[in-house]
Amino acid sequence: MRSFDRIGALFVPVLLAGCAGSAAPPAPVISVADFERHVATLASDEFEGRKPGTVGERKTIEYLTAEAQKLGLKPGNNGSWTQQVSIVEITAGSDATLRFDDTALEYGKDMVIWTKRVVPEIAVDDSPMVFVGHGVVAPEVGWNDYAGLDMRGKTAVILINDPGFATKDPDLFRGRAMTYYGRWTYKFEEAARQGATAAIIVHDDEPAAYPWDTVQNSWMGPQLDVAAADGNAGRIAVEGWMTRSAAEALLRANGRSYAELVQAASQRGFKPVELRQRASSTLRNGIRRASSSNFVAMIPGSKRPDEYVVYMAHWDHLGKTLARSGDNIFNGAIDNATGTAGLLVLARAFQESRRPPERSIVFLGVTLEESGLLGSAHYVANPVFPLKKTVAALNMDALDAGPPTRDVTVIGFGASELEEYLADAARRQDRVIKNEPTPEKGFFYRSDHFNFAKAGVPALYFDLGVDDREGGVAAGEARAAAYIVNDYHKPSDEWRPGMDLRGSLENLELLYQIGAKIAGEKRYPNWYPTSEFRAARDRSLAAP
Ligand SMILES: [Zn+2]
Repeated sequence: MRSFDRIGALFVPVLLAGCAGSAAPPAPVISVADFERHVATLASDEFEGRKPGTVGERKTIEYLTAEAQKLGLKPGNNGSWTQQVSIVEITAGSDATLRFDDTALEYGKDMVIWTKRVVPEIAVDDSPMVFVGHGVVAPEVGWNDYAGLDMRGKTAVILINDPGFATKDPDLFRGRAMTYYGRWTYKFEEAARQGATAAIIVHDDEPAAYPWDTVQNSWMGPQLDVAAADGNAGRIAVEGWMTRSAAEALLRANGRSYAELVQAASQRGFKPVELRQRASSTLRNGIRRASSSNFVAMIPGSKRPDEYVVYMAHWDHLGKTLARSGDNIFNGAIDNATGTAGLLVLARAFQESRRPPERSIVFLGVTLEESGLLGSAHYVANPVFPLKKTVAALNMDALDAGPPTRDVTVIGFGASELEEYLADAARRQDRVIKNEPTPEKGFFYRSDHFNFAKAGVPALYFDLGVDDREGGVAAGEARAAAYIVNDYHKPSDEWRPGMDLRGSLENLELLYQIGAKIAGEKRYPNWYPTSEFRAARDRSLAAP
């Protein structure tokens, strides 16, 4: 484990190995005026907050297509500028049941369950239950909570977060910093790989970092997800959460205490515990289908056109609400008209470069990020370009409004060799790369690059930094905090003439330099050996 990961905002200039002497790509032409024009247009009231399925989507896709044509880009998806994303909205009935033998848990109060399978109803009968600790299989750490278990037909009871967080041991997983293994999405995915019938995560305020209310608000009511051709038959039959007190009662009936088992599950050599009870459950679903579009444009590579560097940004935002008086449009200027505009200005920089890229460059505008990273999830499940030939995914989500900074904040710091490319490019701007201040919040897992990472594709996501050249850290931190408090996911996140985008232009230049360098190389940068995504990439590269 990289011990510096547990120290917030530690200055760590990373040395770039093996790249000394290679000439920098020609300077890009990133036009301030262009960038402002795109942001102002995409964030205008006319685009109605770019909500998928609305006129805002149509205008956004039309605008991106027209601009891409002007730039001479090629449609990316077999002659089409878009990739259709099929989504499904499933609403579990509030009469959903979950019983452990004769003990019935109350929907909403004690548990929240759902199925991602696109079926009108589903039932689980007398499924043997197993407490599987954190439910983690992490080859790079030598950890397997499912070792020796056959989960077919069984129900997994799983702790949230990971053993590193539970023990605060900096040498276990990544200590307090969140890993992919700590996320609820991972728990369900792994239980599905193990063949389990049901998986119930135990909610606990501290390791979850949110209260039970959040579970209720997030998982009761309509749930959007991508709809695979098989109706999501590969997903686990019943997924859900139960309260800590429900789990305490369950474990007590087995003569075990929750605290004791949390501790046991956080030590090496933990063995899963078969429980006496059997789980039964019934669910009825309301189902609605809809679709939206990813935007895909590209520049074919001059020498290795079948290898790809992907720039990505979600074009969608929250639309508008009729319930509000006054300004009812969530314009999403920063989130994420800036990133979407970034696709266009980077495309122009590549088109105007004197050295055309040897690998292909893909400009991917994904939809439904705000609904749970669904457009990127769909793309990764149905990749237009082979993922094993996708050399890097560079994400832009909410480029900041701010002045130039002395630093660059890497989200998910210490993960991949792409950070060496970033550090090198940043050095030429007299900047250094830094860890994010709160790695335990798991921001790396909250934007679209994460779906690429899960599939093994090296992915990079970074922010402006907080050490402003004008005003220093105090000014930068105040600026970053003010955005979260005043504008994040609010109608006031709108374009204002004179908005300071100088810092983001510097970051766009970094993105250009990184992409141009990778596009001119034969090398495949990888995740570091300590990364939870390394094994997936190694498997993918070794596949025929
Ligand atoms: Zn965003």
